[in-house]
Amino acid sequence: MKAKKTIALVAHDNEKEALLSWALENKEKLRKHSLYATGTTGKLLQDKCDLKIRKLQSGPLGGDLQIGALITEGKIDLLVFFWDPLESQPHDPDVKALLRICAVWNIPIACNRSSADFMFSSPLINLSYDHEIKSFDHHHNRPV
Ligand code: PGA
Repeated sequence: MKAKKTIALVAHDNEKEALLSWALENKEKLRKHSLYATGTTGKLLQDKCDLKIRKLQSGPLGGDLQIGALITEGKIDLLVFFWDPLESQPHDPDVKALLRICAVWNIPIACNRSSADFMFSSPLINLSYDHEIKSFDHHHNRPV
């Protein structure tokens, strides 16, 4: 991972206010990196925090899966995903897929304000980092 990270931001509807208020407080830190977001989250961050964001499709319309695909291609370093722990989503399978693919590719996730604060106060946020990815040889070479 380079010092300048590529970060994806997503917030479920009940968590959008929390993400916005966190992003407002951290916008100068965020500005140093390349940012992606799901559609509605991205529009809010762009309008309210004046951040340059590459907006993907809205989450329930496939945006979470687009982020997952970018992770698989090695194009996203970190995920800030304020997901709603109290309400099921129409795209719950996509949410689960995104969280799973982060685990597969060793991608750090911040799921709420405190984890985002810890992530962004780490010196690593602005340093290059030796991002270890498991060898998937056992998977590729499994007997089938
Ligand atoms: P949204 O998607 O930013 O388009 O609202 C977020 C989500 O629900 O995954």
